[in-house]
Amino acid sequence: MLSPHSTLPTVLVRPGEADRLVAGHPWLYEGGVLRLTQPVTNGDVVQVKDHRQRFLGVGFYNSKSKLRVRLLSPDREPLDAAFFERRIRAALALRRKYLPGATSFRVVNAESDLLSGLIVDQYGDVLVLQTSSLGMDLRKPLIADVLQRVLAPCAITERNDSSGRRFEGLPEVHGLLAGELAGEVEVELNGLRFQVDLLGGHKTGLYLDQQVNHARVADLIRLTPNAQVLDCFSFVGGFGLSAAKAGAAHVHLLDQSEEALATARKHAEANGLADRCSFEAVNVFDWLKARTTRGPHEQLIAPFDAIILDPPSFTRTRSAVGDALRGYKEIHLRALRLLKPGGLLATFCCSHHVDAVTFQDVILSAAFDAKRTLRRVAVFQQSPDHPVLPAIPETEYLKGYAFEVIR
Ligand code: SAH
Repeated sequence: MLSPHSTLPTVLVRPGEADRLVAGHPWLYEGGVLRLTQPVTNGDVVQVKDHRQRFLGVGFYNSKSKLRVRLLSPDREPLDAAFFERRIRAALALRRKYLPGATSFRVVNAESDLLSGLIVDQYGDVLVLQTSSLGMDLRKPLIADVLQRVLAPCAITERNDSSGRRFEGLPEVHGLLAGELAGEVEVELNGLRFQVDLLGGHKTGLYLDQQVNHARVADLIRLTPNAQVLDCFSFVGGFGLSAAKAGAAHVHLLDQSEEALATARKHAEANGLADRCSFEAVNVFDWLKARTTRGPHEQLIAPFDAIILDPPSFTRTRSAVGDALRGYKEIHLRALRLLKPGGLLATFCCSHHVDAVTFQDVILSAAFDAKRTLRRVAVFQQSPDHPVLPAIPETEYLKGYAFEVIR
């Protein structure tokens, strides 16, 4: 029988480029392309072979992208509805295994689920699609059909407003793809109720990658009765409200976004936690600096039993890592000075370019300057619906630690 791909256009790969692809990394960069056997329409399926014509896999082609080919399978298989259904069901099975009982989670996390260019989040009965490659974008209707079949959602929306899309020649769009959706959706995460606006523009949804860590940090805070907690970079309250629910006496939430804090306040009320929470729209750097700056004879009072630091990525590029590390050091130095002896620091770094060892080194250097000694009590990573594939280093980005201040 003739292979279904015998007539596909072929992309030949330069010597030395094939090893990474064989090891499971799905990106063929423009510089790795030797030549095409025939012209290819952007977004179409191609087969990829090494310079000796050995078959490496099939994927989507785009001449406008630095990632010329996104490989989707190492096998000679059609990239049709049946293919997507198999991959999506496999991804779903993984979530049901490692996040049993969760009703909101990332169903498909692109490269982590061998579907480069596709992200699908589930918020209760609603699915949110993000397509970051042209090949995936063109197949939105097919993917939406498969999702209807597999998950039967009430609605599917698309949130394609990430700036990364312009590198693929794609416009920024968001809105409803299928079904009906009126207003906000109420979802449950770790037993807390959250309202999410899945039709709005930027900053919709929740940080699902922290779902497990919200609960784990809350469990640590529970060990200190009546804790005074500071949640820095709180967004809509994932960590802070979990801490309040776990029995903290008071949680102060800081975020520079008034909108995020208004939503956090609404969530606190909806969960009966408002009397134990306060909110302040402020730049965390400024706030920590003001609280830790004292005259020569003034003594600093350390008021907190627990501080959470969950900043945005301070760098998107390797070249800016130096500045990012100075930022991380600054907030740790000041946060450590505000913790009581025995207090807990739960801290996260979501920059792929800062690895866990480097991150801990920065924290240690801050502890040295703050004259504090730390005991590490927990190590965190992204929730299991954002799987890490070591063969694809880019899939690993979120790391975190909890430390107890010994003195
Ligand atoms: N901890 C949250 C996610 C935080 S995302 C959760 O688990 O859900 C990072 C947040 O930091 C965003 O809400 C953003 O508005 C806020 N932010 C970014 N820079 C800031 C700054 N300098 N000061 C205060 N907030 C900041």
